[in-house]
Amino acid sequence: EKPQTIELFEELESQVRSYIRSFPTVFTKAKGYRLWDEAGKEYIDFFAGAGSLNYGHNHPVLKQKVIDYMMEDGVVHSLDMATKAKAEFLKRFEQIILKPRGMDHKIMFPGPTGTNSVEAALKIARKVTGRDTIMCFTNAFHGMTMGSLSITGNAMKREGAGVALHNSVFMPYDGYFGEEVDTVDYIDAMLQDNGSGVDKPAAIIFETVQGEGGINVSSYEWMKRIEQLCRRHDILLIVDDVQMGCGRTGTFFSFEKAGIEPDIICMSKSIGGFGLPFAITLLRPELDIWKPGEHNGTFRGNNLSFVAAAEALSFWADTKLTEKIDRQAEQIQETLESVAKAYPKLKGSARGRGFIQGIAFEAGSAADEISAEAFKRGLIMETSGVESQVLKVMPPLTIDDKGLNEGLELLRQSVKAVHD
Ligand code: PMP
Repeated sequence: EKPQTIELFEELESQVRSYIRSFPTVFTKAKGYRLWDEAGKEYIDFFAGAGSLNYGHNHPVLKQKVIDYMMEDGVVHSLDMATKAKAEFLKRFEQIILKPRGMDHKIMFPGPTGTNSVEAALKIARKVTGRDTIMCFTNAFHGMTMGSLSITGNAMKREGAGVALHNSVFMPYDGYFGEEVDTVDYIDAMLQDNGSGVDKPAAIIFETVQGEGGINVSSYEWMKRIEQLCRRHDILLIVDDVQMGCGRTGTFFSFEKAGIEPDIICMSKSIGGFGLPFAITLLRPELDIWKPGEHNGTFRGNNLSFVAAAEALSFWADTKLTEKIDRQAEQIQETLESVAKAYPKLKGSARGRGFIQGIAFEAGSAADEISAEAFKRGLIMETSGVESQVLKVMPPLTIDDKGLNEGLELLRQSVKAVHD
């Protein structure tokens, strides 16, 4: 029987609501890797707010920083006025993230969400180059506003606009054709064919691992070759690190191991520390050409986000978190591989990188059924891919071994239940 509060959601909230369908309960409390609902039932969180809770729920240090700031009557909202909290974030981002990586990107505040960061990137790329198309990839996800949606490789999502969205050119992502066709050569050929190929775009945008699009992992070599192709053709390179950034794949930026340096980097989700709305867009200095006022937004000045975000950068001041992610990622990967093998009827195959892992299923609704089974057992796991065919495993990066073991065991039981 449904608790009364669920009926309230059904009666009052617009149909747009989504997760109450996948996870039919009302959550009341969250800490670290755990959530509790109205009935007091406990859940392990292998979803982590789709990557916005990389440091877990209510991390005690982050929470305390925000509480202290509020107790001192720190400025909560300041539009674009300069505040100490904003200065602290800029300073720490430069010292902890940019400088050690030899980067001199400008830090721009595009608005509070991932889609704001992508929109800003698309606008500036067009303005700098004077070209109006953006090259993007099959199965990409970049957001729900007009520009970011136009480059999202998901027809169902684009249908939300009802009509065709323009100025995007879709290309095959790494591995799209299997081993058959080299996708970088393919794109190169299209760009070189001035007669019947594609017009030169302002930018190429990609995710290093497609989180929403089915955990499609691009190789470091592919990223490097895309960068070279951009340089050869004088096209800007944008990496959308909204979901894979802040350590999801093991390093602060998800492209670090590829050795590339994108012209523009989009970040949101976990950059806000522990779930506060926040985004940044990083621009090579020469791209920072907007005049004051050409891009503004009321909630660029959320100082609680600045406070939490500045403190969260401490996780990247040493290599402890990266080492922990690498160690536990191996365990997640091995478990998913062995689970896929142990229940062969479902025809699943494990894939992922770092703390974004999953099992892609051939058989119909297996991923959704496993997600529903897991929920009953007290494990929150989403699915991804245009047909929800991929079970998505993304615990908070801070999860301890006990929580990880418990969650993986619940996952195994849930796959078994659907298989048997
Ligand atoms: N880019 C990527 C790669 C994302 O995963 C998302 C969100 N899932 C977005 C952009 C959009 O972010 P937001 O939902 O905050 O607008």
